[in-house]
Amino acid sequence: MKKITKVDVAVLGAGTAGLTARRSAEKQGASTALIDPGPHGTTCARVGCMPSKLLIAAADAAHGVRQAETFGIRTEMTVDGALVLKRVQKERDRFVAGVLESIERLRSEGILLEGAARFSSPKLIEVEGHGMVEAKAVVVATGSKALVPPPYEGAGDRLMTNEEIFELDSLPERVLVVGTGIIGLELGQALTRLGVQTTLLGKSNDIGPLTDPKMKTEALRLFSEELDLHADHDLREVRVVEEGVRVRFVDAYGKENLGVFDRVLIAAGTGPNLEQLDLERAGISLNEKGVPSFDPCTLQVEDTNVFLAGDVNGYRPVLHEAAEEGRAAGANAARYPSVMTRVRATALSVVFTDPQIAIVGRPWSEMKCDDDRVGEVDFENQGRSRVMGVNRGKLRLYGERNSGLLEGAEMLGPAVEHMAHLIAWSIQNRMTVSEVLDMPFYHPVVEEGLRTALHDLESSLHIRYPPGEECEEFGPGA
Ligand SMILES: Cc1cc2nc3c(=O)[nH]c(=O)nc-3n(C[C@H](O)[C@H](O)[C@H](O)COP(=O)(O)OP(=O)(O)OC[C@H]3O[C@@H](n4cnc5c(N)ncnc54)[C@H](O)[C@@H]3O)c2cc1C
Repeated sequence: MKKITKVDVAVLGAGTAGLTARRSAEKQGASTALIDPGPHGTTCARVGCMPSKLLIAAADAAHGVRQAETFGIRTEMTVDGALVLKRVQKERDRFVAGVLESIERLRSEGILLEGAARFSSPKLIEVEGHGMVEAKAVVVATGSKALVPPPYEGAGDRLMTNEEIFELDSLPERVLVVGTGIIGLELGQALTRLGVQTTLLGKSNDIGPLTDPKMKTEALRLFSEELDLHADHDLREVRVVEEGVRVRFVDAYGKENLGVFDRVLIAAGTGPNLEQLDLERAGISLNEKGVPSFDPCTLQVEDTNVFLAGDVNGYRPVLHEAAEEGRAAGANAARYPSVMTRVRATALSVVFTDPQIAIVGRPWSEMKCDDDRVGEVDFENQGRSRVMGVNRGKLRLYGERNSGLLEGAEMLGPAVEHMAHLIAWSIQNRMTVSEVLDMPFYHPVVEEGLRTALHDLESSLHIRYPPGEECEEFGPGA
């Protein structure tokens, strides 16, 4: 007879979503068990947001030195790959250590059970090495993992995903990055700027999370100036040879390309960590997207006692959403069956390339808006951007006819991470374009570019504020 631990809420996965879910359930007065086989430390701190931003910070530093000549400053530079990675690992370890402290506390309190979990029935979970956990409700927060396209599976230890790249001792000479989504683009550009001979392969001209055809064209143009980027290709051969991995492909222009790479970095999408959970024993089936059908406002899977939070549900796979979903799922699991609905925050995602990319609110693909509800700015002649030599990119805002409400934005430009927040907060506060224009804009700042796009949108939507008056424009020195 296996040992049975009885709790109100079992949380599967001790990542960002799982840790917040457990805490949130506990705050509601529920007894909890947190189940995770490790490695601990969260994807974000260990192999995700933080180490990738650390690598990008080094790449930005190298790029800054190269760009110094623009300002009349001459200098020489060497990238020491081993030192770059040493700093990445040292700082990454600090972030991970913070998480490990909480994990250690939960271990000592007997809340953390270290083993893989799988359902035996809707309320019974088998934990490898720990027996059974009986729970009234369960939060599944098992995250996702990189999917390796079958042709690359034979590349052996030359293959890396985000799980391996930050563990390297030194930078490889030649890297193939498979995927031009957020991770492929961020890491591919960082490697290029750190002096690694990098080739990026994408499909269907997809570039980061952009969906607006005009934005995609602009992004492809800008990134192709710097990167060996093939945003569409037809793969012909992947073969491990003595010197590395030999890859042959035909590019969008019909030209055959051949390269030998020391390493292949896979960034071609992710899949949910669900296959080991035996969800069918909990009476749960998967939909056409490969996840259980769930309500994003309650995180509940249909009318079951199971809640799905974080990357595992594939809804908005970014950190702040994982944390928020964890909080909501944990509270609802504790309250089950009386669950509460919560309004989701405005969608916001940022890509830390240069120029940065951001998507806010509803992307173009959801609305397919014509130009009569779009406002646009090109950063080429934007004052502050030119001052800093970063005047590249475009920003498109989408608004609603009649109401004049801001609905969404796709951005590519200098430090758009900040403008993306301003727009997200404005959308969430249901502000009209005119109301946003009534806010202060300092001079000279990159946000003045945003103001130009807002004016353009105001004019596309045929609204004016104050009614009938033209807005005053401030130029340089005005
Ligand atoms: C390279 C990279 C860069 C990123 N950069 C950013 C960024 O800049 N900004 C941003 O917002 N987001 C970024 N993200 C996304 C962000 O990291 C994720 O959205 C977030 O970490 C998801 O948290 P989670 O709790 O859902 O999953 P995780 O943190 O992955 O937690 C899942 C946990 O489940 C456990 N588990 C798996 N299977 C089982 C099982 N059978 N039983 C029990 N436990 C199990 C795992 O061990 C793990 O601890 C990045 C991701 C990557 C990969």
